[in-house]
Amino acid sequence: MDESLPPIAGTWPVLEPGWVWLCGAGPGDPGLLTLHALNGLRQADVVIYDALVQESILDWAPQAEHIYAGKRGGKPSAKQRDISLRLVDLAREGKRVLRLKGGDPFVFGRGGEEAQTLIQHGVNVRIIPGISAGIGGLAYAGIPVTHRDVNQSVTFVTGHDQSGATPQSLDWDAIAKGSQVLVIYMGMKHVEQISASLLAAGRPADEPCAVVYSATTPDEKVLETTLGRMAADIAASGLEPPAILCVGRSVLMRQVLDWQALARGEVPRNLDPLGRGRPAEAS
Ligand code: SAH
Repeated sequence: MDESLPPIAGTWPVLEPGWVWLCGAGPGDPGLLTLHALNGLRQADVVIYDALVQESILDWAPQAEHIYAGKRGGKPSAKQRDISLRLVDLAREGKRVLRLKGGDPFVFGRGGEEAQTLIQHGVNVRIIPGISAGIGGLAYAGIPVTHRDVNQSVTFVTGHDQSGATPQSLDWDAIAKGSQVLVIYMGMKHVEQISASLLAAGRPADEPCAVVYSATTPDEKVLETTLGRMAADIAASGLEPPAILCVGRSVLMRQVLDWQALARGEVPRNLDPLGRGRPAEAS
């Protein structure tokens, strides 16, 4: 452990040799790490991290070897099973291993498979949840993932399946009807098909949508659009993944809750974007 860093109060788990901590890194901003993640970073011999993990987070583990296990510069991504077996090998060498994954490891992150492989090989595992991009990323954009006047449920969907195609197994019709707010991960590639399916299932073309790019990082950008225009607006913007798509009226709340704009000195665009005509918390 790096003693130059101040101790965290309380009793914290020890990352023992031969263990793997499968840890969420949050959506980007290092401040969104959990204290368990920080504790693990300080103790690790090896940190294996994915493409969407901000590299500045590795500064918390100066004593550790840093191994990149993602896709970069057009190179094919490391195979999932190879990564898992590498973790097994490192654990068997007696290393203290921190496996750092973007967002939450169990939300569209294949953390379940990695943990299962480790356990099947007899390796001890601790799971450290993280802030998922579909919740924390939207919050940074000023969009509450649930808001009492808008939605009583939210659906998290992936826009890719293992083959990279839009998941044919998904019933987009049911998804469209299932909840008032949809949060779509990995939706950029197939946004045209996804929005067409939602429109065909009866979601209105003027339904508010937001696309949050590189959420919580210095490159964060937010595109506000509608379901009918989303695909064209994304194409026109030239912006690149990673991005979270949010479909639903909670996007309107950004007109009052864009706290980053307020911090820059802007004024709220609309103090009552849902048009309730009464104080926010009057029932
Ligand atoms: N386990 C991660 C999700 C991994 S899937 C989590 O819980 O957040 C990868 C997808 O997550 C990306 O294609 C994108 O849709 C979303 N994502 C991850 N980080 C993001 C970020 N900083 N900004 C916007 N979207 C992000």
